[in-house]
Amino acid sequence: MERKGTITVIEKGKATIHSYTASEEGGLVTTQIIETEKGLVVIDAQFLRPHAREVRDYILRLGKPVERVIVSHSHPDHWFGLEYLSDHPVYALAETGQEIMDLGEAMIRDKRALLGELVTDSRIIPDHTIEEGQEVICGLRYDFKRIREAEAGVQLLIHLPEVDTLIAQDLLYNGVHLFIGHGAFEGWIEAVKGLEERGCGTILVGHGRPAGPAIYKEVTGYIEEAGRCYRSSRNGEELKERLMERYPDHLAPFLLDISNGFLYPGEG
Ligand SMILES: [Zn+2]
Repeated sequence: MERKGTITVIEKGKATIHSYTASEEGGLVTTQIIETEKGLVVIDAQFLRPHAREVRDYILRLGKPVERVIVSHSHPDHWFGLEYLSDHPVYALAETGQEIMDLGEAMIRDKRALLGELVTDSRIIPDHTIEEGQEVICGLRYDFKRIREAEAGVQLLIHLPEVDTLIAQDLLYNGVHLFIGHGAFEGWIEAVKGLEERGCGTILVGHGRPAGPAIYKEVTGYIEEAGRCYRSSRNGEELKERLMERYPDHLAPFLLDISNGFLYPGEG
């Protein structure tokens, strides 16, 4: 069967990074697989079932034990696919686990009303809590940090200092319209500045292909523009139109429709 997503493999010495990016229909959402000699760490689980299944099959082919599955934040496009990875330990920040517990059923109901069998019908709640700070997993150092009020209320930043890699997930998007529904434009720009200060060469994003340091300026520019357009647009339709005009090559404009559902809850 033809693969629906694309996989970028990056050799980083002690680790090999496999970055899976869904097709546009799945919002180009990513799953990162960090392979070391000892095993695999998987970050985020996809949105739509066809992509989640592909990720599972790819992991099986790598033929190494999955030490952990980590969920970066509670937005459904990053954890719905957990149904295909639930035989491994699933980790998240405490707030993320709580949000999936409290809001997960409603998220599944909403998305199934639109997408039916393409999305999960089972809420998998992370069963392990990630703490901020350093840990060695499968022989590689992970540095975990909690970021508040950016793309989401709480999200996890992962730095792999030994292999010059930052796993930013939804703090950054590459060539994809941003989900701006949380509306924390200022906080998000501050967070991106903090990422840039870490000085990594390889940057893994939540939507789109892996990037280099030029991504910081691109994303900051988009957030600034989105904030300006939001403050001066009369409605969601105008906001979307202006951002699509400003960024004609960006993919998955439906992420702006989802954003509008939060920014303009009375419309549509
Ligand atoms: Zn996302």
